[in-house]
Amino acid sequence: MFPALKLGRLFDIPVQIHWTFWLLPLWVVLTQGGQAPIAIQLLLLAAIFGCIVLHELGHALAARMYGIRTRNITLYPIGGVASLERISEKPAEELVIAAAGPAVNVAIALGLGAGMAVASAVAPAAFVRSAGEGFLSWLIVANLLLVAFNLIPAFPLDGGRMFRALLGFFTSYVKATRIAVYAGAVLTAILLGAVILFFPQFATPFLIVIAVFVFFAGQQELAMLEYRERMRQAADPFAGPVRFTLNDMPPWVQPPVTPPVTVHVWDPRTGEWVRQEQRM
Ligand SMILES: [Zn+2]
Repeated sequence: MFPALKLGRLFDIPVQIHWTFWLLPLWVVLTQGGQAPIAIQLLLLAAIFGCIVLHELGHALAARMYGIRTRNITLYPIGGVASLERISEKPAEELVIAAAGPAVNVAIALGLGAGMAVASAVAPAAFVRSAGEGFLSWLIVANLLLVAFNLIPAFPLDGGRMFRALLGFFTSYVKATRIAVYAGAVLTAILLGAVILFFPQFATPFLIVIAVFVFFAGQQELAMLEYRERMRQAADPFAGPVRFTLNDMPPWVQPPVTPPVTVHVWDPRTGEWVRQEQRM
């Protein structure tokens, strides 16, 4: 709808802000919750999203170690996304890439905590009075919440990716993804239901949007993988003829133009494999 706002490049990776992001500061201004002045709240929001950029950078730089490039890092109102050019199918690599993001937030929280401890020891009276202390404490809490949230094993959150990678050591990649996606959907539903029942004050529209996002993003990634797996089988003559129907995929993942597929079909009359170009 609107172009993303380009902020610049970090380690040669473009960082940009999706237009929907601005709904979040708008929401903060309109709701005016909390005791802190609005300027401090917006500054804290900016600092948290700075930490989210570093989190995504953690994924991107870990992926770079394995030769996977990152197209961009985009900020949305519900968080950031590092668009990797591909996802590693080696469980050990995926485990490292998924863990690198939350690890950055753990490092930030530890760094800020150590910095605050040193500062309060060096200049106790001045530091306790400073307005910065509360701000830094909130930033530490925000980073710890980011770690806790991302480690929920609901695919495609980082915890869910780590869970898929662990399953990937024992079973095929597609099967591991299927298990992680369905387990993640069930877990998301249970967690959301528990929050609504027991902590209704936290059941904001924001939380429901995140739960819905987790569900659909998981379904979409699974559908993509299953589609690619079928393409792969079709390219393998020993897998035999494979029938495709686009209806196998949910409408939101159907590609606008489908590529031609070369399949090999066994012809019992001639006793040979016959190449066939098929356009789905
Ligand atoms: Zn992450």
